Amino acid sequence: MFTSDFKTEPYWWDAVPREPAEPYDIPAKVDVLIVGSGYTGLHAALKTARAGRSTLVLDAQQIGYGASSRNGGQISNSIKLNLLELTKKFGTDMAAKISIEGKASRDYIESFVKEEGLDCNFKVVGRFDGAHTPKQYEKLAKTAGEDGSFMVPLADQHSELGTDFYYGGIVRPNHASIHPALYHRGLLSLVRQAGAGVGGNCKVTSIKFQNNGYLVETPTQSVQAKRVIIATNGYTTKVTPELQKRVIPIGSYIIATEELPKDVMDRLMPKNRMLCDTRKMVFYYRPSPDRKRILFGGRVSLNESDPVATAKPLRNELIRIFPELKKVKISHSWSGFVAFTFDKLMHVGRQKEMYYAMGYCGSGVGMASYLGMKIGLMAADDATGQTAFSEIPFLGRLYYQGNPWFMGPTISYYRLHDRLSL
Ligand SMILES: Cc1cc2nc3c(=O)[nH]c(=O)nc-3n(C[C@H](O)[C@H](O)[C@H](O)COP(=O)(O)OP(=O)(O)OC[C@H]3O[C@@H](n4cnc5c(N)ncnc54)[C@H](O)[C@@H]3O)c2cc1C
Repeated sequence: MFTSDFKTEPYWWDAVPREPAEPYDIPAKVDVLIVGSGYTGLHAALKTARAGRSTLVLDAQQIGYGASSRNGGQISNSIKLNLLELTKKFGTDMAAKISIEGKASRDYIESFVKEEGLDCNFKVVGRFDGAHTPKQYEKLAKTAGEDGSFMVPLADQHSELGTDFYYGGIVRPNHASIHPALYHRGLLSLVRQAGAGVGGNCKVTSIKFQNNGYLVETPTQSVQAKRVIIATNGYTTKVTPELQKRVIPIGSYIIATEELPKDVMDRLMPKNRMLCDTRKMVFYYRPSPDRKRILFGGRVSLNESDPVATAKPLRNELIRIFPELKKVKISHSWSGFVAFTFDKLMHVGRQKEMYYAMGYCGSGVGMASYLGMKIGLMAADDATGQTAFSEIPFLGRLYYQGNPWFMGPTISYYRLHDRLSL
């Protein structure tokens, strides 16, 4: 089942190996201290550093270790709720603002990559969402037309995807693809050029408010910061207990296949689209940027598991969609944490001089970039940092203190829902 060089590391790290862990000398004082070196933290750092604020980014692990170098590289409008659902929750005006910012996040990453000249395989390839039941096809059809989306009936499905698994689907042409780790590396290099420090293996262990700023400690060093930005998303811990109680960390798992013949790739994924389906236990997949492999992700275990154990059930799901891959070998299997929220939306906020942006609900490539940029502007006192995501309440639940004990039962319910083809 595994290739001889099978790895339990992201496929993306083959092109962008992690930087070696070297001791990092933390300065005594900075204007802005950022916890977390993913897209949120680095986009924030780019804004504060370019605005002339001395900026330091610290990560508990290697730089970019979190979801930002592990994800599927699919770029969407990032908002899980549709306009009707948003309107019911927040009223017409706020719903419109959120929806506009969803689109803005998608456009922001495209213009950022172009303007900064980042070499990271960004391509507007569109996404095909397969309907796993006829009812879901009808449901998708009601949304066709939005942002140029169009239906693909079952009879034409092979023009999009070499499978009979779905009942047709929808194409969303403005969705894009990226190489997540190349994107992260390009961004990191811009942040360093802007003069910010970025230290890996520097776990922040406490953040104390004092003298109108913060004393931030790691196990061996400390720094006085005027402002702090929390950019820890699915890796948020009790260092920020009020945030930990508001985000639910959920592991997401991906496999990469061995290299496949060109004719197979051309038959299975003729249009190079990003791919997804309508199941509640959603699977997301795509060709690798060189079109030689399939990267296939989703959630296949009730509780968190290790990537060796999850490779087999993920491969089984891949083969259900593409039976001709029944002999395929797996070269990489890995996982990472996303952060869900109770209202399925991302949140931005400020308490005293501490800022945060998180809760991307599994769609953070564009949105973490965009809200990282916004929070950086806010921390640099730039009024254009304003965003609707700081105007909606960020609520937890009394029954949740940071340990997602309800994940197993929730996933069992979702599986049943999918099995009954609801
Ligand atoms: C497997 C997987 C697939 C995904 N696929 C997609 C996709 O296709 N499309 C999409 O839009 N989104 C996807 N996502 C989600 C997306 O990757 C994330 O939303 C986004 O990368 C979040 O970026 P971030 O910078 O906020 O957090 P992260 O990149 O997760 O970074 C958080 C960092 O905080 C650090 N940290 C935590 N605590 C501390 C501390 N105390 N001290 C110092 N550092 C600390 C962590 O070490 C970590 O590196 C996926 C995520 C995963 C895991």
